Amino acid sequence: MKPRPSLDLAGTAEFLKSGACKSVYVLTGAGASTGAGIPDFRSPGGMYDSLRPELITATEAQRKRMRMDPVNVVMKDMFFQNQFPYLEVRRPFILGTQQQQWKATLTHWFMRFLEEEGLLKRLFTQNIDGLDYQTGISPELVTNVHGSLARVSCEGCGYEMPFDDFCAQVRTNVKDIYRTDPTAPAESSNINCPRCNAPLVKPNTVLFGGSLPSAFFEQLDDLNGADLLIVAGTSLVVSPANSVVMYVAKDCLRLIVNKEPVGQDLGIRYGKDATRDVWAGEVSCDEAFLDLIKMLGWQDKVRKIKHLLPESNQAMVKDL
Ligand SMILES: [Zn+2]
Repeated sequence: MKPRPSLDLAGTAEFLKSGACKSVYVLTGAGASTGAGIPDFRSPGGMYDSLRPELITATEAQRKRMRMDPVNVVMKDMFFQNQFPYLEVRRPFILGTQQQQWKATLTHWFMRFLEEEGLLKRLFTQNIDGLDYQTGISPELVTNVHGSLARVSCEGCGYEMPFDDFCAQVRTNVKDIYRTDPTAPAESSNINCPRCNAPLVKPNTVLFGGSLPSAFFEQLDDLNGADLLIVAGTSLVVSPANSVVMYVAKDCLRLIVNKEPVGQDLGIRYGKDATRDVWAGEVSCDEAFLDLIKMLGWQDKVRKIKHLLPESNQAMVKDL
């Protein structure tokens, strides 16, 4: 039997320092990036909440679908009918990504620190913002479960288009439904694939009704070797990404960093029922990982990158 750490953040830190914990896997979601200012598209004020289908270039029937369920914006069959809902809704997110408008948070940096300590075996992220890479984390350790905004390809023929070329066309061809960019065109026109000429180019994000990257399924079996699984900033409602929590061995410690306890339906147990699950409490991801950083004595690592953190994190680390 492995020695059982106490089921709290301090116990998790002790376990990480003990040498008995050699293999850490991580699953992140939108909460990892909220400190960077990227709104969770499911939350109030997020992309779905503020969607105004009447502004989108679409037929009345397509607008009706989006009104009934905003997820239709990123549905595969919708995209194949009309690429504008996706491109118009995501325009600021695509161009902001190109301009590095958002900065990696303490949560992203914590994963990089885990790699520096030789502990990180894999980071599965459901986020498409690519902020993980800003920390210099080894790209081969990162699996973008839902794809990435910063790579572009044709859904028809697979042609990969350089991100900057694509962004140049987004700027000139796609109207700004948020009305923040005065240089945007008044009407949208298609962005066609340079190879097959179909209007099917878009960032490599996984559409609803589309399939996840095959690497994700191949890597799930590795989770069996995990000593610690960290689940951060995800409500664990999106399948199959949420199945990560079930692929770890029965004695693997699981740390849940999310403002509410999640995953009870997937077998995660809290409070007196907990046997190997730790809830970080009602705190943001960045707060929880800063606490862990202090418990681990990794303050020096943060001091070195302090100036790179987003504004919301600056106040948290000013006395470090
Ligand atoms: Zn094509």
